[in-house]
Amino acid sequence: MSQDSVPSSEFVTITEFSEEGENLGPVRVSKVHDDFHWQKVLSPIAYDVTRKHATERPFSGPGYDRKDGGLYRCICCGTPLFSALTKFDSGTGWPSFWDPLSGNNIQLREDHSYGMRRTEVLCSRCDAHLGHVFNDGPPPTGLRYCINMAALNFVPFPAGKGGAP
Ligand SMILES: [Zn+2]
Repeated sequence: MSQDSVPSSEFVTITEFSEEGENLGPVRVSKVHDDFHWQKVLSPIAYDVTRKHATERPFSGPGYDRKDGGLYRCICCGTPLFSALTKFDSGTGWPSFWDPLSGNNIQLREDHSYGMRRTEVLCSRCDAHLGHVFNDGPPPTGLRYCINMAALNFVPFPAGKGGAP
């Protein structure tokens, strides 16, 4: 089956980044939906967060407070989502960022669950639930992307590299 026969809605444009965090530009990729695979390979908490929209307990995600340089990728599909360069200590016990790596790589969706009005943050490529974004973050954006550590795979910059804009 040629790619031309796949409905266009099954493709998405994401922005790829190198290991050093360098913007490599937009790439068109197929969406990923593989619940059977994820159920096998993800930890129970990672599966519950990303596929069942659960929230991990604060201060529970190993590495939520790490400060070293690197990229945070989607635990399900590897899409680069956030950089350590925009991470800050929000005191909430969840990894918090004031900007995503690229607006292409996340989707925002209104979330009215639990009687709250929140904005949900999802991975563009695989629709993984990542967390929520709030308007009480630091400059320059004033945004706080409050993300579950279980939804992220931290990949450190190669030794002595990375971090340059
Ligand atoms: Zn993903």
